[in-house]
Amino acid sequence: MAIKRLLIANRGEIALRIHRAAHEMGIETVAVHSTADADAMHVRLADHAVCIGPPAAKDSYLNVAAIISAAEITQADAVHPGYGFLSENARFAEIVEAHGLKWVGPKPEHIRTMGDKVEAKRTAGALGLPLVPGSDGAIEDFDEARALAETIGYPVIIKAASGGGGRGMKVVNSADELESQMGQARSEAKAAFGDATVYMEKYLGNPRHIEFQVFGDGNGEAVHLGERDCSLQRRHQKVLEEAPSPVITPEERDRMGGIVSKAMADMAYRGAGTIEFLWENGEFYFIEMNTRLQVEHPVTEAITGVDLVREQIRIADGQPLSFKQHEIEFKGHAIECRINAEDPWNFTPSPGQVTGYHAAGGMNVRVDSGLYAGYRIPPYYDSMIGKLIVSGRSRNGAIMRLKRALGEMVIDGVKTSIPLHQALLEDPEFNSGDYTIKWLEDWLAKRA
Ligand code: ADP
Repeated sequence: MAIKRLLIANRGEIALRIHRAAHEMGIETVAVHSTADADAMHVRLADHAVCIGPPAAKDSYLNVAAIISAAEITQADAVHPGYGFLSENARFAEIVEAHGLKWVGPKPEHIRTMGDKVEAKRTAGALGLPLVPGSDGAIEDFDEARALAETIGYPVIIKAASGGGGRGMKVVNSADELESQMGQARSEAKAAFGDATVYMEKYLGNPRHIEFQVFGDGNGEAVHLGERDCSLQRRHQKVLEEAPSPVITPEERDRMGGIVSKAMADMAYRGAGTIEFLWENGEFYFIEMNTRLQVEHPVTEAITGVDLVREQIRIADGQPLSFKQHEIEFKGHAIECRINAEDPWNFTPSPGQVTGYHAAGGMNVRVDSGLYAGYRIPPYYDSMIGKLIVSGRSRNGAIMRLKRALGEMVIDGVKTSIPLHQALLEDPEFNSGDYTIKWLEDWLAKRA
C-alpha cells in the first residue's frame, strides 16, 4: 500500500466511517474540521487534526485552498471526500491530483460528465442503459418544449441539468402550465446551481427508486454489487433504504447488473459509483449516476460482506479489484434507517446538546454515528446524525431486528426521527414491501 496517510475531507458519520476503514488498513488519518466541529468524534480519533475554518461550509468543508494546505502540512498522501461537500467537484479532484495526492474517487472527467445530467443521460444512453423518455439534451425554447411534451404525453417533469439533492424539478400536468413551470425551473436552477439549463422527462406516475452499486478498477474491469431500494423518500430525500429490493428477482438483478457493469467497464470507470433508476411495471429507466460513496452504502456491505470504503482506498492506491463478479454473493436482507436530529413529524431541525446516548447492539446491528453523551450537534450542517443498519436472513427477520434495535437507541436532549421509523415499521404496506416513491408522503399526510 503506497497510501500511508489519508486526509478525510468531510465531517460527521461519514468521516468516522472513512477513519475506521483507514485504520483497519494500517493507514493514518488526518481530520480537517471547522471550528464548530472541534469536538467531533472523528476529530478525536484521527491521528492528526487541522482546523480549516469557521462553521459555514463555504469557508471550511468547501474551502479548497485550506484543505490542500492541511494535506501539505500533515504530509497526507491521499484525500477521501466522502459524500456531499466537494465529493462530486471535478475541479477539486483535479487540484488534489495536481498536488501529487491520490484522489479516492473516480477520474475527474467522469465526475464532470455525470455531474451534468444532460451529459450523463447522453452517455448512459450511448452505453446502452434504458432511459426515461424525454428531451434529447437540453431544451432551449418554449415551442420546442411544447412540441416535445405533446409527443411524450403529460405529465412531464422539467429538471435542472446541474440539479442535485432533489432540487430544481418541476412537474407539468398540462400544456397551459408548461410555460410558467419551465420559467420557474430555469430561474430556480440559475439561483441554486448558477446554471439555467433544463431538460424534460416523462413524469413517471408511481415508480420505485432502485439503484445499482458499481465498482471499476479504472482499466476496464468492473463489477456490480446488486441494488438498493430507496423508494421511501420525503421531498425527494431518502429516509430508509434496503437491499435487496423487495421487487427484484435474482434473474433481474443479474440481467440489469450485467448491463450496468458492462457500461462501467466500457467507460473504464474507476472506484465506487451508483447508477440510479426509476422502476415501473417491471422496466428500469436511468435517471442519474452518482460518482461517489452513497449514504446508504452499508446495506450493500451487509448483504455482500464487501467493505466499500476499503475497496475505494485500494483502487485509489492502484490495486486491482479485490473480487470478481462471480465471487459476489448476496446473502440475507439489510435495512438502514437515517436518524436525523429533527422533529419526527414536522421535520423542524433539532440541534443542541445530546445529554444521554446509548447505541443499539447485538447480532447484525450496526450504528454509524459520531454521537456521544455530551456532544453538541451544531446547527450549521445536515441534520443526519447517524444511521442504524441491521441485517437478517430474511426481510421479515431484518424488520423484527430493526424494531428491537430502534427500541434500544437512546438519544436524549434533542428530537430525532426514531419515532417515525418505529411507526413506519408497524405499517402493513411497508411490511409487505409494496411501496413506491410517493408512498411515504401519502402515509405522512394521512397521519397528519
Ligand atoms: P437529484 O439529483 O436532485 O436527487 P434525481 O434525478 O436523482 O435528482 O431525482 C430525484 C428523485 O426525483 C427521484 O428519486 C424521484 O423520486 C423523482 N424523479 C426524478 N425524475 C423523475 C421522473 N422522470 N418521474 C418521476 N419522478 C422523478
